[in-house]
Amino acid sequence: MTDITRQIKQKAEHFLHILLNVFPRRHLLAASVVAACLVGLIIYPATDAEAKKQLAVKITLPVDLPTQELASEELDPPLRWIEQTVGAGDSLSTIFSRAKLTAADVYKISSSKDGKLLRNLFPGESFRFGLNAANELEQLHYIQSVLLSRIYSHDGDSYSSKLVELIPDTLLTYREGTIDDSLYLSAQQANLPDKLIMELANIFAWDIDFVFDIREGDSFSILYEEKYLNGEKLGVGNIAAASFTNRGKIYQAVRYTDSTGNSSYYTPDGLSMRKAFLRAPLDFMYVSSSFKPKRFHPILKRWKAHRGIDYRASTGTPIKAAGDGKIIASSHNKYNGKYVFIQHGNNIVTKYLHMSKRAISRGKRVKQGDIIGYVGATGLAEAPHLHYEFLVNGVHRNPRTVKLPQADPISKSELAAFKLATAPVLTQLAQNQAPAEFALNGARAANQAGSTSAN
Ligand SMILES: [Zn+2]
Repeated sequence: MTDITRQIKQKAEHFLHILLNVFPRRHLLAASVVAACLVGLIIYPATDAEAKKQLAVKITLPVDLPTQELASEELDPPLRWIEQTVGAGDSLSTIFSRAKLTAADVYKISSSKDGKLLRNLFPGESFRFGLNAANELEQLHYIQSVLLSRIYSHDGDSYSSKLVELIPDTLLTYREGTIDDSLYLSAQQANLPDKLIMELANIFAWDIDFVFDIREGDSFSILYEEKYLNGEKLGVGNIAAASFTNRGKIYQAVRYTDSTGNSSYYTPDGLSMRKAFLRAPLDFMYVSSSFKPKRFHPILKRWKAHRGIDYRASTGTPIKAAGDGKIIASSHNKYNGKYVFIQHGNNIVTKYLHMSKRAISRGKRVKQGDIIGYVGATGLAEAPHLHYEFLVNGVHRNPRTVKLPQADPISKSELAAFKLATAPVLTQLAQNQAPAEFALNGARAANQAGSTSAN
């Protein structure tokens, strides 16, 4: 064996040795996958069908360990390892005592330089105790998550520590669905995780009222992040781009992180998806899980008669402030029941009636989306519902169709960077979409044309 190959072999063995020491035993398999990666193999866990829909955007080396620093901590003879998982109510003392360590050991490590980082433990975190032949604590691994650990090493009379942070691979996954029941059920059928269904609705919450506007035949397509570490799926990340076709209008959104580090969703033209008012002041998840668009008769047909929209929802459903503003009334009477009014700027007031409980008092400022109360049937109400009114200069307007202020565009100085960063993602979304939708995409999407008001 030449010197160089011996060196490479030693380095690889050393790397593996570090991995085995850093990770709990259940990651042994993962570690061998990393070893495979080192010789140029990358293994994806997806099936062939899935793999087709997954597009790698960023392949980082699966493990980014500070190997140089760890090298000096390699110990001979090897340590004996004990694992402990943090349970509810556990403190450092209870965990140390389970590992047969003493109060003196607890004191020594918690009074070390980074000892205070061990004060707030959370259930599900874990510890690995590395004991030497004399049963002294040489190394302590505080494993906060699969990606985040801190390693405390015996250092003279105390302990020094190092953060070990792993960077997962991010793959983009495509899903699409057509609504024939509720958005929730259709999204579930499309294998979209719950978290993403909610996020999808949140992205379009300023354009689409997910309670009243959703119809059979509406469709969505979505490109979202999945995180992998050493070929093991960790979970889902953010939606990178999404398209929603509501009653023939296509809305598109793409995620962009600006130069100040703020991430938000924009139209492909660079207009913010966020607007001054939400289309619906409550989450569709509470309302629509049981309704079928085909046989749904919105009470809003009576809008002209009673100057508001009624959202049927069960008692206790959270009600959100439709926009930023100031609470000008939070009270109750025999008609409105418990109610809250919000003043937005100079000329717009929103009203929320029949609450079971109010969550805010008069004079307080609210941000869009803040919970101001809960659905109920107080006052003149036959069944639990939210009665919602929208007044412009004292005149009742239909909140579903009123023209709202235009969204802020992305700053001119960022536009070029925005286009550059989002074009590939939008192209991926379009290429994955079914041919019919792809063809439609050639035309300008509804939210690109500048008009965002529903009909
Ligand atoms: Zn009403």
